Amino acid sequence: MDNENLNCSFCGRSKPETDLLIAGLDAHICDNCINQAHGILIQENDKENKHKIDLDFELKNPRQIKNFLDQYVIGQENAKKIISVAVYNHYKRVLNTNPNSDVEIQKSNIILVGETGTGKTLLAQTISKMLKVPLAIVDATILTEAGYVGEDVESILTRLLQSADYDVSKAEKGIVFIDEIDKIARKSDNPSITRDVSGEGVQQALLKLLEGTIVNVPPKGGRKHPDQKFIEVNTSNILFIAGGAFDGINKEINKRLNLNEIGYKSKKNFKPNEINLIKYITPKDLRTFGLIPEIIGRLPVLSHMNSLDKETLKLILTEPKNAILKQYTKLFEMDSIDLTFTSGAIDYIVEKALDYNLGARGLRSLCESILTDAMFNLPGSDESELKVTKSYAEHKLNKIQITNLKAVS
Ligand code: ADP
Repeated sequence: MDNENLNCSFCGRSKPETDLLIAGLDAHICDNCINQAHGILIQENDKENKHKIDLDFELKNPRQIKNFLDQYVIGQENAKKIISVAVYNHYKRVLNTNPNSDVEIQKSNIILVGETGTGKTLLAQTISKMLKVPLAIVDATILTEAGYVGEDVESILTRLLQSADYDVSKAEKGIVFIDEIDKIARKSDNPSITRDVSGEGVQQALLKLLEGTIVNVPPKGGRKHPDQKFIEVNTSNILFIAGGAFDGINKEINKRLNLNEIGYKSKKNFKPNEINLIKYITPKDLRTFGLIPEIIGRLPVLSHMNSLDKETLKLILTEPKNAILKQYTKLFEMDSIDLTFTSGAIDYIVEKALDYNLGARGLRSLCESILTDAMFNLPGSDESELKVTKSYAEHKLNKIQITNLKAVS
């Protein structure tokens, strides 16, 4: 047959009417029909994949997750194990979104209880680094009930969106770390006339968010405004990690354990006052402290963080992949200066951190104070080496007021 007389077997167009006509065994198809068919294919695939969520990352098993955490977070074995399992289960739940499944897996949001500077934020940061998912770190103390001075709880999601470069689907699989959750505990001595807008009110506002809901988020943050365009964010697959020091909760735990002391009689030498009580924490203690039961229910994974002792602080200074001393060594190396610390100097820094009760947070401030002079003077000089000894560290620290230390952290 003459080429010009060929037709598309689907739409009937003749060859001159098409840009391209492809021949099959007994039929032809034109570029137009190929495009249409391609569109149909995509639609059908989308329908099939509607309930499949792409994680954009390879989900590691709990042991692999813990191995990763071990590289950055020293000690805190119990918390790392619990978090590894919770994170694993959380993302398994994200993958299991088939509405026909009769078992619905509930969210495994986490609450970490431990003194400041024990690594709560670091754990959340490390998990987000491993999964390469966006992370928002927010302070619960800035939140207030809608309509009051402060930020609405939706602002949490604005931060998450910003951290995800406004990619909503990425944000919806991200992590939110809510710090100082203990500061929004119910204030029981609040006179009933005054509304508890920064305490229980915020807890109430957080409930839906933690559980999973669709929120209209103001992309630039700030108060909701009728004229502002909102971005819809579904929080069902966002992992929430809350952290707090819960100062004084030991007393509650002690009280509870003493109440039950008869039950513990078999445990010889059980002296609650002398042991690390925080490891006995239960959701009940959080409730006594002033978290409402609904919030506790939506943060079902509870773990404590141990206080950091001398050995742990020493390891924190030297061991993690981005250990503080490694960071300073790198900074000096960039100026071709070989920086070393004697073990005496390391012991001294750790003891000072313990003395001033600055925890791991203090380690960095101490190092900064010890090294500031050198970081100012050595670049551009002839020096190619700096050995920090105990007496060097002592001398530098004695020059400054310890009150300044906190300002550096
Ligand atoms: P928190 O959130 O509990 O107040 P952070 O996670 O912010 O404490 O810790 C403050 C700093 O102390 C971190 O930047 C980190 O360098 C260090 N740090 C605290 N705990 C640990 C730990 N267990 N392992 C390694 N570094 C730690």
